[in-house]
Amino acid sequence: SVAMERILRRRSLQLREKQQDWQESPEGQKMLEFRRSLPAHKEREALLNAIAQNQVVVVSGETGCGKTTQLPQYILESEIEAARGAACSIICTQPRRISAIAVSERVAAERGEKIGESVGYKVRLEGIKGRDTRLLFCTTGILLRRLLLDRNLEGVTHVIVDEIHERGMNEDFLLIVLKDLLPRRPELRLILMSATLNAELFSSYFAGAPMLHIPGFTYPVRAYFLEQILEKTGYRLTSYNQIDDYGQEKSWKMQKQAQALRKRKSQIASAVEDALEAADFRDYSLRTQESLSCWNPDSIGFNLIEHVLCHIAKNERPGAVLVFMTGWDDINSLKDQLQTHPLLGDPSRVLLLACHGSMASSEQRLIFDKPEGGVRKIVLATNMAETSITINDVVFVVDCGKAKETSYDALNNTPCLLPTWISKASGRQRRGRAGRVQPGECYHLYPRCVYDAFADYQLPELLRTPLQSLCLQIKSLQLGSISEFLSRALQPPEPLSVKNAVDYLKIIGALDENENLTVLGRNLSMLPVEPKLGKMLILGAIFNCLDPIMTVVAGLSVRDPFLMPFDKKDLAESAKAQFSSHDYSDHLALVRAYDGWKDAERQQSGYEYCWKNFLSAQTLKAIDSLRKQFFYLIKDTGLVGCNTENCNKWSHDEHLVRAVICAGLFPGICSVMNKEKSITLKTMEDGQVLLYSNSVNAGVPKIPYPWLVFNEKVKVNSVFLRDSTGISDSVLLMFGGSISSGGLDGHLKMFGGYLDFFMKPALAYMYLSLKREIDELVQK
Ligand code: ADP
Ligand code: MG
Repeated sequence: SVAMERILRRRSLQLREKQQDWQESPEGQKMLEFRRSLPAHKEREALLNAIAQNQVVVVSGETGCGKTTQLPQYILESEIEAARGAACSIICTQPRRISAIAVSERVAAERGEKIGESVGYKVRLEGIKGRDTRLLFCTTGILLRRLLLDRNLEGVTHVIVDEIHERGMNEDFLLIVLKDLLPRRPELRLILMSATLNAELFSSYFAGAPMLHIPGFTYPVRAYFLEQILEKTGYRLTSYNQIDDYGQEKSWKMQKQAQALRKRKSQIASAVEDALEAADFRDYSLRTQESLSCWNPDSIGFNLIEHVLCHIAKNERPGAVLVFMTGWDDINSLKDQLQTHPLLGDPSRVLLLACHGSMASSEQRLIFDKPEGGVRKIVLATNMAETSITINDVVFVVDCGKAKETSYDALNNTPCLLPTWISKASGRQRRGRAGRVQPGECYHLYPRCVYDAFADYQLPELLRTPLQSLCLQIKSLQLGSISEFLSRALQPPEPLSVKNAVDYLKIIGALDENENLTVLGRNLSMLPVEPKLGKMLILGAIFNCLDPIMTVVAGLSVRDPFLMPFDKKDLAESAKAQFSSHDYSDHLALVRAYDGWKDAERQQSGYEYCWKNFLSAQTLKAIDSLRKQFFYLIKDTGLVGCNTENCNKWSHDEHLVRAVICAGLFPGICSVMNKEKSITLKTMEDGQVLLYSNSVNAGVPKIPYPWLVFNEKVKVNSVFLRDSTGISDSVLLMFGGSISSGGLDGHLKMFGGYLDFFMKPALAYMYLSLKREIDELVQK
């Protein structure tokens, strides 16, 4: 141990020497000069003192002031200066993988090093970290996983949780775990960093931990809402002047307000229709009934954004443009569209960049660099450019007003990632991004009255998502009772939501009656997908029909690739029906469509194939890449084995694929009653339900299955089911549910046998093939 200490001491001195050498070199001096210009620098000593004297510190400061890149570095530098460099270990979490990578590269560069020396990163499936790495940037999920193996975070000296104002589920979860850990590790330091001023909430959660604020400076940003944008950029919008009248609304009586709101909505809708026409709407695939009936900037957006960008590129002063979009598929489609534009697609005048989680790091660097020779940089980004990364030369911001957000309806136990309106706080944050280096301008692509209706803050993710995955994680981390644990959260979720999640996990067999993790549950907790999708994947692997199941699961996680254009609905529906070949399954139709597309791709005719069959090539590509990821995940579980050919031995067996789909989607099930002229569908909770017209099961004279399983139901006026698959009694009996909910296990329990999760489906399959053989014999 004395020898050990000597080694540590020697390494610490080496680290100090190296740091000094860099700081004294000309490049190091230049870098220091830049770093000293950041607002965080003035607070350096105060921050370090507070951290030395308190176990928990909350730090807030305007985006770009230097929290993420500087504060962890201050700690590292001061430890190295004090010759404790080799003994310290600092972990800084980021909500997104891309910011973890970008920030670690930046910090390494600021220290004159390559990534993997004193600074490293780790995100899922990827990471660079060396023997001397003392500062590690990782995603919140990675730290949670580490806690699974190392409950006390042995050897870690500082944990920094960044972007806590976003209130992501993982971050809220991590805070509960860390709060429990602190008394066990009195010398561990916890620093919470937030972009906004709601630091009190976090401070009071940690027994009044001290709060430090880094005062920042930004230039004023002028905001334009849709009405002014249309005027400024020369759009015609006939019914728009009506919107000005809404200003008087505040003085109206309460009862009238609701009425006025309805009227306002319909007026906005008609104004938007005009805007749509003016926008010369091109992308027919998005022009569905849904997108017209409410104001949906994603769909009108493409041409409106193009118009605004064109206006900026032509008429406004130099400066980069940052466009806030909802997701990477939208970003890619818009980028494709803009690339065909004579001005915006001309690389000698405009540098078009996409900024999202899955981009290459060479592309990443371009985002931060200032282009040469008067080229205007346009960055299309998701809301992660709101706070996680800072692009300095932005002068113009274009804000579509929406972000993808998971939403949860306690009735419908499925999380869905849908574009929803942002909060006022996000709107302000997006606008602020334009004032980093000089006064800026922000184009909000929605009317002022829509902005006024935004919520002040976004609801924490914990309160708006289904908790199934989280509950599994609580169990696999052995954190005790789920409801007790969650009641200690910063803002605890509704007991009903918790109960729903636990009940669901019991029904699908991930938890037993006593809320203990089952074998299935343990496997599911290791797969970073929703439990039901994980269950489908695992069964797909066990039953050697992985290919079709991966397609179904990817389709359910991305979205439907079947396009239903508003004006060609009949044609599109019959195109989809071709893929069904009378097997009463939307999921199998998807499998066929995808397989057909892969074949067409191999013959370089993927595009024509999509066009002919009303399929979205974009979505199919997304499904394709997700399938690849699934395959690696499944391989990690060890269920596939070395012989990967085996895992598709039964893929052609449609009955089996159907059974696995049933196992995953259960308890999403409705009964089918074929009447003379119509079909009645019923679920246990809702009574009668209807099918969306684009399902292959809609409008057929008869469904020769007693049951349909479905992924999702949506309540509009009635309850509608989206995709569905016909299921026989025996499949439901054997593949639906788990030990606690009866099914096959119920019977076998009577024989006193205990059935492991992996045994059950194997037996079920034997039964199934036996039954099929008997059926065939009877037929003969
Ligand atoms: P905060 O976390 O407070 O929002 P950051 O630490 O991320 O701020 O960034 C501080 C400053 O460092 C930014 O304003 C920007 O000037 C600079 N910066 C950050 N990342 C990069 C990068 N990858 N390339 C160049 N400059 C960067
Ligand atoms: Mg930051």
